[in-house]
Amino acid sequence: MGVRRWLDAWPVYRQLTGTDPLGRGRAARSARSAGLVPRTDEADRVADSVCPFCAVGCAQRVYVKDGRVTQIEGNPDSPVSRGRLCPKGSASKQLVTGPQRELKVRYRPPYGTEWQDLDLDTAMDMVVDRVLDAREKGWQETDRDGRRLRRTMGIASLGGATLDNEENYLIKKLFTALGALQVENQARI
Ligand code: SF4
Repeated sequence: MGVRRWLDAWPVYRQLTGTDPLGRGRAARSARSAGLVPRTDEADRVADSVCPFCAVGCAQRVYVKDGRVTQIEGNPDSPVSRGRLCPKGSASKQLVTGPQRELKVRYRPPYGTEWQDLDLDTAMDMVVDRVLDAREKGWQETDRDGRRLRRTMGIASLGGATLDNEENYLIKKLFTALGALQVENQARI
């Protein structure tokens, strides 16, 4: 390798002598970095969503390949966040794909002293049984004057800021269909 080629292979030399004095373009490029492509290029579809973490409601683009989330980016079309995400929003892909994601439910039965691991289907069946039971026990068909109510006072929903728009939409639909009146969320947008 000649001296010139040796110097050209050195990024600082390219930065000091070339057309990229800030070292953010050609000067910083290597053979390896030139061959890199963004993960978003491989997506087969992109879904618009909203960051679930806080009430700012920054817009996200969720990149999906073969049915799996591959990347989440800020959506530049949003008048709220204009393509930006804070570190929490930037890391929200881990909510779906992170190895810390729990796939079992920890359950301690009434009067029990030990936790048990339940699979999700078993836990879901138990939740359904309890919801239906509480709905029935709190059911009010009419008020004292015979006026029709058809509601339950036995169940309520209190959501939090980590629920996204789609989840809140479904929660409201579900609880209203069950006859519940108290459907609330802590987040305010
Ligand atoms: S990206 Fe950050 S600021 Fe925006 S909604 Fe998510 S947590 Fe809130």
